[in-house]
Amino acid sequence: MPITHGINRHARDDRSTALRGHPEHERLLQRLETSYEVHTRQLARLTIGGGGAPDEADTRDHLVDASRRAVADIAAALRHMAEGNYGRCERCGKPIPVELLEARPETRDCGPCQGAALADPPGST
Ligand SMILES: [Zn+2]
Repeated sequence: MPITHGINRHARDDRSTALRGHPEHERLLQRLETSYEVHTRQLARLTIGGGGAPDEADTRDHLVDASRRAVADIAAALRHMAEGNYGRCERCGKPIPVELLEARPETRDCGPCQGAALADPPGST
Protein backbone atom coordinates (compact mmCIF):
# COMPACT_ATOMS: atom_id res chain seq x y z
CA MET A 1 0.00 0.00 0.00
CA PRO A 2 1.89 3.07 -1.19
CA ILE A 3 -0.33 5.34 0.90
CA THR A 4 1.22 4.15 4.19
CA HIS A 5 4.69 4.71 2.82
CA GLY A 6 3.75 8.26 1.89
CA ILE A 7 2.32 8.92 5.33
CA ASN A 8 5.31 7.27 6.94
CA ARG A 9 7.85 9.41 5.13
CA HIS A 10 5.82 12.50 5.84
CA ALA A 11 5.72 11.67 9.57
CA ARG A 12 9.49 11.13 9.68
CA ASP A 13 10.32 14.40 7.91
CA ASP A 14 7.71 16.34 9.78
CA ARG A 15 9.02 18.20 12.80
CA SER A 16 6.09 16.81 14.74
CA THR A 17 6.49 17.53 18.42
CA ALA A 18 4.06 14.73 19.24
CA LEU A 19 6.35 12.12 17.73
CA ARG A 20 9.42 13.67 19.34
CA GLY A 21 7.86 13.89 22.76
CA HIS A 22 6.85 10.23 22.76
CA PRO A 23 9.57 7.81 21.69
CA GLU A 24 7.08 4.96 21.90
CA HIS A 25 5.13 6.50 19.02
CA GLU A 26 7.74 5.21 16.62
CA ARG A 27 7.11 1.71 17.91
CA LEU A 28 3.33 2.18 17.78
CA LEU A 29 3.67 3.48 14.22
CA GLN A 30 5.37 0.24 13.22
CA ARG A 31 2.64 -1.77 14.89
CA LEU A 32 -0.03 0.28 13.14
CA GLU A 33 1.61 -0.24 9.77
CA THR A 34 1.89 -3.98 10.41
CA SER A 35 -1.74 -4.40 11.47
CA TYR A 36 -2.85 -2.17 8.59
CA GLU A 37 -1.20 -4.60 6.21
CA VAL A 38 -2.59 -7.63 8.04
CA HIS A 39 -6.14 -6.28 7.97
CA THR A 40 -6.04 -5.12 4.34
CA ARG A 41 -4.70 -8.50 3.32
CA GLN A 42 -7.38 -10.29 5.35
CA LEU A 43 -10.04 -8.02 3.88
CA ALA A 44 -8.84 -8.81 0.37
CA ARG A 45 -8.82 -12.53 1.11
CA LEU A 46 -12.31 -12.38 2.62
CA THR A 47 -13.86 -10.36 -0.20
CA ILE A 48 -12.12 -12.17 -3.04
CA GLY A 49 -12.68 -15.59 -1.46
CA GLY A 50 -16.46 -15.75 -2.04
CA GLY A 51 -18.28 -19.08 -2.25
CA GLY A 52 -18.51 -21.34 0.80
CA ALA A 53 -21.53 -22.50 2.76
CA PRO A 54 -24.25 -19.95 3.65
CA ASP A 55 -23.39 -20.03 7.37
CA GLU A 56 -19.77 -19.36 6.47
CA ALA A 57 -20.88 -16.35 4.46
CA ASP A 58 -22.48 -14.93 7.60
CA THR A 59 -19.26 -15.32 9.58
CA ARG A 60 -17.36 -13.82 6.67
CA ASP A 61 -19.60 -10.75 6.67
CA HIS A 62 -18.81 -10.18 10.35
CA LEU A 63 -15.10 -10.58 9.69
CA VAL A 64 -15.26 -8.20 6.72
CA ASP A 65 -17.06 -5.67 8.91
CA ALA A 66 -14.51 -5.97 11.69
CA SER A 67 -11.60 -5.71 9.26
CA ARG A 68 -13.10 -2.67 7.54
CA ARG A 69 -13.52 -0.92 10.87
CA ALA A 70 -9.98 -1.83 11.90
CA VAL A 71 -8.54 -0.53 8.63
CA ALA A 72 -10.49 2.72 9.02
CA ASP A 73 -9.30 3.17 12.63
CA ILE A 74 -5.71 2.41 11.72
CA ALA A 75 -5.80 4.75 8.72
CA ALA A 76 -7.11 7.50 11.01
CA ALA A 77 -4.36 6.82 13.54
CA LEU A 78 -1.70 6.95 10.80
CA ARG A 79 -3.14 10.23 9.57
CA HIS A 80 -3.02 11.64 13.10
CA MET A 81 0.60 10.56 13.36
CA ALA A 82 1.42 12.35 10.12
CA GLU A 83 -0.37 15.45 11.38
CA GLY A 84 1.23 15.26 14.79
CA ASN A 85 -2.05 14.82 16.71
CA TYR A 86 -1.58 11.17 17.46
CA GLY A 87 -2.43 10.11 21.00
CA ARG A 88 -5.08 12.78 21.53
CA CYS A 89 -8.65 11.88 22.37
CA GLU A 90 -10.99 12.66 19.46
CA ARG A 91 -13.75 13.57 21.90
CA CYS A 92 -12.17 15.71 24.61
CA GLY A 93 -8.72 16.44 23.10
CA LYS A 94 -6.83 15.19 26.17
CA PRO A 95 -3.83 12.89 25.77
CA ILE A 96 -4.73 9.20 25.62
CA PRO A 97 -2.86 7.17 28.29
CA VAL A 98 0.07 5.29 26.78
CA GLU A 99 -1.21 2.00 28.27
CA LEU A 100 -4.32 2.32 26.11
CA LEU A 101 -2.24 3.06 23.02
CA GLU A 102 0.01 0.12 23.79
CA ALA A 103 -2.99 -2.16 24.12
CA ARG A 104 -4.59 -0.83 20.96
CA PRO A 105 -2.50 1.63 18.90
CA GLU A 106 -5.52 2.70 16.83
CA THR A 107 -7.45 3.83 19.92
CA ARG A 108 -9.23 7.13 19.28
CA ASP A 109 -10.64 7.98 22.71
CA CYS A 110 -9.18 8.36 26.17
CA GLY A 111 -10.31 6.04 28.99
CA PRO A 112 -13.10 8.24 30.43
CA CYS A 113 -14.51 8.97 26.96
CA GLN A 114 -14.45 5.28 26.03
CA GLY A 115 -16.26 4.51 29.26
CA ALA A 116 -18.83 7.21 28.53
CA ALA A 117 -19.36 5.89 25.01
CA LEU A 118 -19.89 2.37 26.34
CA ALA A 119 -22.24 3.48 29.09
CA ASP A 120 -24.23 5.74 26.79
CA PRO A 121 -23.88 4.77 23.13
CA PRO A 122 -25.13 7.42 20.73
CA GLY A 123 -28.81 6.94 19.90
CA SER A 124 -29.36 4.35 22.64
CA THR A 125 -32.26 6.21 24.19
ZN1 LIG B 1 -11.47 11.93 26.03
